Amino acid sequence: MRVLVALKRVIDSNARVRVKPDKSGVDLKSVKMGMNPFCEIAVEEAVKLKEAGTASEVVAVSIGPKAAADSLRTALAMGADRAVHVLEDGEVQPLAVAKLLAAVAARESPGLVLLGKQSIDSDCNQTGQGLAGLLGWPQATFASSVEVSADKQTARVTREVDGGLETLELRLPAVVTADLRLNTPRYATLPNIMKAKKKKLDTLAPGDLGVDVAPRLRTLQVEEPAARKAGAILSSVDELVDRLKNEAKVI
Ligand code: AMP
Repeated sequence: MRVLVALKRVIDSNARVRVKPDKSGVDLKSVKMGMNPFCEIAVEEAVKLKEAGTASEVVAVSIGPKAAADSLRTALAMGADRAVHVLEDGEVQPLAVAKLLAAVAARESPGLVLLGKQSIDSDCNQTGQGLAGLLGWPQATFASSVEVSADKQTARVTREVDGGLETLELRLPAVVTADLRLNTPRYATLPNIMKAKKKKLDTLAPGDLGVDVAPRLRTLQVEEPAARKAGAILSSVDELVDRLKNEAKVI
């Protein structure tokens, strides 16, 4: 069974995000970038399926500019077998990403497609759902555990939902999106980074997959969140009660 794993290159979660002076978006110049953390979890799960003998091949795919190939090399160093880079410099919104991934899935015929539950830059949480819809495949989002049956016909997926945990059984092929507690991604070791340089990385254009990536949504304005007011350290409970009553007027 082949596993396709989709990953996005995003601003590093520790980087300070700055809005461009013209408020047209976020300044990406000289900002540290890396693989989206939920995608790292998806890659780790794919590699674990390979190590367990469940998956025969792990194919990593990313859509983005030239530098997205660096994140694909990281996935190869983590243990993916080969990679597909859909090279696109412009903005690619979740619907277009889902269409491109559906086209890659049509070529690769995976038994399972793994994605992150969410990109931490756009926080869309749409791509996996859109992909399952386009393919007409079952989906399980926010997965905290994935078990593929011995005959590889089904997968049992535990999902983190508001009220607790929900366990679903999916017919394969299916789409699964990874939540935080699914696993702890490994670090790519130096020898594996070196080995990854020799693994196959194919580059395609959206046109090769017959997909129009023109954005359907227009960003009108991006703003910094309002600065928080400074807090105050109070000397007694009486003072706190007084302030809550007479200043904040909440009691
Ligand atoms: P989103 O719907 O943007 O929150 O993204 C959810 C997941 O879809 C991500 O964690 C990735 O697995 C996948 N995804 C989103 N954008 C891309 C992209 N440009 N290339 C590959 N995978 C992507």
